[in-house]
Amino acid sequence: GDAQTLLLQIIPYGDDQTLLLSRDVTQIERLERMRSDFIANVSHELKTPLTVVSGFAEMLADDPAGYSADELRRYLKLINEQSVRMRCLIDDLLTLSALETGSEAPVEERVEMRPLLEAIYAETQALSGGRHRLSLTFDGPVAVRGCAGELRSALGNLASNAVRYTPEGGSIDLLWHGIDNGAAEFLVSDTGIGVAPQHIPRLTERFYRVDRSRSRETGGTGLGLAIVKHVLTRHQGTLEIDSELGRGSRFAARFPVHRLIS
Ligand code: ADP
Repeated sequence: GDAQTLLLQIIPYGDDQTLLLSRDVTQIERLERMRSDFIANVSHELKTPLTVVSGFAEMLADDPAGYSADELRRYLKLINEQSVRMRCLIDDLLTLSALETGSEAPVEERVEMRPLLEAIYAETQALSGGRHRLSLTFDGPVAVRGCAGELRSALGNLASNAVRYTPEGGSIDLLWHGIDNGAAEFLVSDTGIGVAPQHIPRLTERFYRVDRSRSRETGGTGLGLAIVKHVLTRHQGTLEIDSELGRGSRFAARFPVHRLIS
């Protein structure tokens, strides 16, 4: 754990009296460190794509006629890809910041689960492009009370992670079903790369990734599960993660009974 830091203040008062104040600033220091780590992470994540964009743009501007149509297409495609990556990161940062400040009270609407999960399934199929065996089973409450937009993005994120971390030929199964005590869960099971046990508790931290390069290659921002965790917490739900390295993972988004409409 962290060492404790005490701030001591010596305050003179009266003629020859002093007051000694001691304050525990351990927690303040920890928050400060998290804040500066976060800023360092964001800067780093933006810097890499920005270097590619400005590098290629400068190169093309120097000698616009010096490149074949094929080369131009390739370089412009790279510039575009890196711009998309920066936009995804900024979108995720804004989402996360809105969720973290909690300034907006959670929306309490009736969210129909069948159309929501069918939309997520269609998106999963598109993302997989036929490279995985996919299934969707709907066997749970018809609706959840909450925010459709937030649930769409959180549950969709679990499904798209399954695609991104499962090699070609693997299976991904989406299941919505009732569990103990009248609760219900959206369960995403994959036969992908899995996660070693020591990483599991940290996966929902901002920018925590087991393998940076793989996450980036597949379009990850490192913020997805942090967003999922926040959205579920706002719905009094939980995220359960079971995984085995090299065998696959199960991510379960659970909702308590008072959120469900049968
Ligand atoms: P990223 O954009 O890096 O995917 P996430 O917050 O969505 O960010 O996930 C954090 C990390 O958790 C990932 O980098 C990856 O290491 C791990 N992870 C998430 N989903 C899975 C999965 N289905 N299988 C294996 N690892 C996963």
